[in-house]
Amino acid sequence: MIGGAGYIGSHTARALRRRGHEVVIYDNLSTGHASLAAGFELVRADVADVAALSAALRRVDSVMHFAALAYVGESVKDPRKYFRNNVEAGLVLLNACVDCDVRRLIFSSTCAVYGVPEKIPIREQTPRQPVNPYGTSKLFFENALEAYDRAYGLRYTTLRYFNAAGADESGEIGEMHDPESHLIPLAMQAATGARPELEIFGDDYPTADGTCVRDYIHVNDLADAHITALERLSNGADSVAVNLGTGQGYSVKEVLKQVEQVTGKKVPTRMAARRPGDPPALVADASLAGKVLGWKAKRSLDEIVTTAWKWMGRKNK
Ligand code: UDP
Repeated sequence: MIGGAGYIGSHTARALRRRGHEVVIYDNLSTGHASLAAGFELVRADVADVAALSAALRRVDSVMHFAALAYVGESVKDPRKYFRNNVEAGLVLLNACVDCDVRRLIFSSTCAVYGVPEKIPIREQTPRQPVNPYGTSKLFFENALEAYDRAYGLRYTTLRYFNAAGADESGEIGEMHDPESHLIPLAMQAATGARPELEIFGDDYPTADGTCVRDYIHVNDLADAHITALERLSNGADSVAVNLGTGQGYSVKEVLKQVEQVTGKKVPTRMAARRPGDPPALVADASLAGKVLGWKAKRSLDEIVTTAWKWMGRKNK
């Protein structure tokens, strides 16, 4: 697992182990955390370190690639960093996979590859026209995978995540971003007084209540999709790209209401300007994932916020 000590990777590592798979986590800990990888073999090295990477790849039959930078705003300010990490290092990984005869790869992609879609819910055939360097970097890797599949027989599953959220039900692992920029943890911090208020980025969008609508998907639902994707590829299936979402959108205000319900506290808010690069609504049509992976999101927004709240209590102890 490349980038297995991060948020989604660490949840997937546990899911893999529960299913009886052997896991090697490869992570440079630049944004990952050793604590999230506790109990797993951790190779602490960079993807650019081809010798270390090749040594790890020779020991496995499949790769899951989670290692990437994933802040839209930062990618606009520092595209060079994003292209270096997500594109250049990504190619090092792909080449090493081919050289080490690893022919199965699960890739963490994103709904950001669609840019501002014309139609909601978003199907996989929607033209991929990213509107920021983050989305562009992920689209590049998707295209590289297609080429490597055709030329070198590298079979892949591209998983286009919508808004990953929530935490493991155990309360032992969860989201740890620094700085935190995601709605649910920030709203909970505002609820506890750890920050003065939650800024709502725009309430003049063409949505029912004027705030942005997103498809929040529980991190363990994402983890489950990786398992089915891996097992499907291991059974000789073809490469495919699928959306991973619930198909249900919630506005920022609806999410805040849910946070208030779960925490029993008021979330102080302040209206703020739109955040550049935010499309009004992103909601998945996840029916293809149902068809090809036999996967469906099981956890609700309530479970997302409840598990995130439990994790926040544990993390701050
Ligand atoms: N958002 C907000 N205030 C915040 C953080 C996020 O209003 O302090 C909004 C943001 O504009 C977006 C939604 O919440 O519409 C989800 O944002 P997040 O950063 O969690 O995920 P993203 O959609 O960027 O992947």
